[in-house]
Amino acid sequence: MSVLSALTEALDSGAIEVIDLTAPLSSQTPVLELPPEFGQTAVFELEEISKYDDRGPAWYWNNIRTGEHTGTHFDAPNHWISGKDLGDIASVPVRRMIGQAAVLDVTAEASANPDFLVEVEHIKAWEAEHGPLPAGGWLLVRTGWDARSRSQAEMINADESGSHTPGLSVEAARWVAEQTPVIGMGVETVGTDAGAAAGFDPMFPCHSMLMGNNKYGLTQLQNLAQLPPTGAVIIAGPLPIVNGSGSPARVLALVER
Ligand code: MN
Repeated sequence: MSVLSALTEALDSGAIEVIDLTAPLSSQTPVLELPPEFGQTAVFELEEISKYDDRGPAWYWNNIRTGEHTGTHFDAPNHWISGKDLGDIASVPVRRMIGQAAVLDVTAEASANPDFLVEVEHIKAWEAEHGPLPAGGWLLVRTGWDARSRSQAEMINADESGSHTPGLSVEAARWVAEQTPVIGMGVETVGTDAGAAAGFDPMFPCHSMLMGNNKYGLTQLQNLAQLPPTGAVIIAGPLPIVNGSGSPARVLALVER
């Protein structure tokens, strides 16, 4: 049997399960909030064109308005100044939209401390148990934050001192970007950086280091709890927005049962 026939047969039999890692996209979908001095991204909106009415008697359709970085989305290298010459979202090679996932679970740490930062040693400890991070694949950081994804306030988790959400330390961001073979990092929060990362040096280190090394970000993932630590295959499909810096994406995982 051909590999692709074996794949479809395994999908039909349930030997391979498809897990949706994508948050539903609506006007309720949480979005990133930057410090107030910066420009802000739009929430997702539908604008009805017609709905089986005199504007279009047999058809229903909408225009959409959205930020590129709204909901579950894919960050392209040109999203950051460090990667400004490294390509837009339309030039991400399709081959790089399919890759293996390494799932690092720090749910316990992030639930005890919303400002929890993954350090290099956490990832090295994961590698000691599960093997090296996958070449051409993704590091997915599970924090339990997907449980908050229906609420802007819970997702951002802000108080007078700013947003409190987990992420990576500066050194961990640098190490993942420069020393590991993954092509990107995926998270359950609204951005790849920690809530406090506007105050890090450099600010927003995951963005700065990943984009600057021609790597990618995936955000607001769900259902990572259903993935094994290794072996899942991720399919992440951003729209080819010409000159775009990112795009909402449908992100799926194939998991062998
Ligand atoms: Mn983004």
